[in-house]
Amino acid sequence: MEECYGNPSSLHRMGLDAENLVQGSRKAIASAVGCPPDRLFFTSCATESNNIALLGGLAANRRLGKKVITTAIEHSSVLEPLRSLEQQGYEVCALRPQNGRFWTEQFLELVDDQTAMVSVMLVNNEVGLRLPVEEIFSGVRRKNPKTLLHVDAVQGAVKVPFCFSKADPDFLSLSGHKLYAPKGIGALYVKKGTKVAPLMFGGGQEQGISPGTEPVPLIAAFAAAVDDYAAKAERQLERYAQLRERLFSQLAECEDMAVLSPEDAVPYIVSIAVKGIRSEIMLHFLEREDIFVSSGSACARGGKSHVLTAMGFPPKLADSALRVSFSPETTEQDIDRLVDKLKEGSRKLLRVR
Ligand code: PLP
Repeated sequence: MEECYGNPSSLHRMGLDAENLVQGSRKAIASAVGCPPDRLFFTSCATESNNIALLGGLAANRRLGKKVITTAIEHSSVLEPLRSLEQQGYEVCALRPQNGRFWTEQFLELVDDQTAMVSVMLVNNEVGLRLPVEEIFSGVRRKNPKTLLHVDAVQGAVKVPFCFSKADPDFLSLSGHKLYAPKGIGALYVKKGTKVAPLMFGGGQEQGISPGTEPVPLIAAFAAAVDDYAAKAERQLERYAQLRERLFSQLAECEDMAVLSPEDAVPYIVSIAVKGIRSEIMLHFLEREDIFVSSGSACARGGKSHVLTAMGFPPKLADSALRVSFSPETTEQDIDRLVDKLKEGSRKLLRVR
């Protein structure tokens, strides 16, 4: 904001400095993700990235067919554009997990010569399930090499190992704030040669994919956050696993608490339930103790979780679900205090009911 305020499109030195900062940031983020930097475009958020990939990708490739395959546990920024595509005549198949996970064969059974796109998230934002995107995409490519492949990598990129070259997606969406950058910055990778129709028109920035003056400070912050996280990602995963173990072993002693996340989910997103107490009630109880968790996805604003429903949890249990996310700042004491307060909440709130 203060040191490099130029507009990257300006021809003078100040503009050039800003342009260099944007390009350097692009390189840093692309290197952490494993994609070519010249194909990574900045957007305002992953919601925009997902919309461009799905709506723009299909609009530019109408001849590929009318079928889209996805999962029923995608974020609303994927499911909602797909709903609008359905109204345009696309057939959208949203797969549900079988025995708590997704199998590559489920996708391959549906892929045919009319399959225009397959869109799969890397890590689910409510339960932490890690989907086998690399295998799914390799399989789809073998069956129909023309099918466009989109991965919403928001909750997993840089945080968990992901083999970019094996997945070889056409589109990959990122969000800055999931890696502790400020809110308001995202990115979309578009494979070289993959056509995409812009959703907005303007000055042609970001090769016309997301036009508008680049938010240079947000872009620089995004790169700094990614650099910082990438340097500690492996250690951080181990640390999260220890914290989760501590949480689970304490919860195991409480009869009224359940873990909803699958065993092999990523360790930094944990879905739990205090049986008999609705999520919002417990959420507000914890909030009074300065413990901030969410009920389902924050974007769903506490609405019924389509993810837990698709995972097959009984509605009563899903209604009690709390999503606990760990950050690099989470400590053992935080876990112990959370469990203490969950127990206290359970005692007090059950009595009130
Ligand atoms: N995709 C997933 C899996 C998410 O969890 C989120 C946000 O939580 C998004 C997309 C949307 O990201 P943004 O908030 O940057 O629009």
